[in-house]
Amino acid sequence: MAPKTVFITGANRGIGLGIVRELLKNSEIEHLIAGARDIEKARELQSISQSDSRLHLISIDVSNDESLENSVKEIDSIVGENGLNLLINNAGMIEVYKTMDTPNRFAVLNCIDVNAVSSLLLSQHFLPLLRKAASHVEGDEFSVKRAAIVNIGSDCSSQTLNVTGFCNETLLAYKMSKVATLSFARSLVADFKILNIPILVTTIHPGWVLTDMGGPNAEITIEESASKIVNSLSLLNSSHNGGLFDRQLTPLPF
Ligand code: NDP
Repeated sequence: MAPKTVFITGANRGIGLGIVRELLKNSEIEHLIAGARDIEKARELQSISQSDSRLHLISIDVSNDESLENSVKEIDSIVGENGLNLLINNAGMIEVYKTMDTPNRFAVLNCIDVNAVSSLLLSQHFLPLLRKAASHVEGDEFSVKRAAIVNIGSDCSSQTLNVTGFCNETLLAYKMSKVATLSFARSLVADFKILNIPILVTTIHPGWVLTDMGGPNAEITIEESASKIVNSLSLLNSSHNGGLFDRQLTPLPF
């Protein structure tokens, strides 16, 4: 079960780029829009788009409101009457100051802004395009084929795992930002229910992945993470609405 149209942020490297590669293996996907802060420097994406016309590159800085507004217009002109089936909020950053004894308001706010606030605002900006896609399917189906918002969260989205030491790094702002991401996802689900909006919202932890963020000691490759995430996307249904899952859809505690 694949979406026709997908938009993913932070797609120029890391897990985002891996998800792009995996999604393009599915012939049901008609338009995959890959967001990058600087598309001139997104060499891998450019190279893929030369051989696959379904891939569209757009510039987006998720912490810039004008950039968000422009991305909606650009993507609207690409997806047209179909609307947007799947928004993947993947762009993220880890705090620069990782230790307990370096309080820094700007660093904390920046991390929360990029990881949590921007994902919420993007979800709001893209609501009309998601609703358009959802309107093409009758009934109460929840799926990426209809309309969905998938946040790339973390085991650090789990307050339970944060306090039991599973997510075991000193990452105060990052953990706060990822808990906030799960929090707004759950609130969106509740609000969508009240408003009768059939858009699935869920949060997926990709694993500890060998990227710039994950570092050289991480446990799994980008391909391992991205292939499992993309497979899981096709399996999402109403039972996953509002939840937190690992890349193979095993539930994680809140
Ligand atoms: P990377 O550091 O490899 O890549 C981060 C991506 O986010 C880049 O494309 C980067 O763009 C983009 N980005 C950062 N800030 C902005 C911004 N303001 N506007 C637009 N794009 C931005 O990270 P990963 O691939 O490892 O992480 C992807 C997601 O997975 C994140 O949400 C992260 O929290 C999550 N995650 C990762 C884990 C891991 O082990 N790697 C573990 C758990 C969760 P640019 O190149 O321009 O900087």
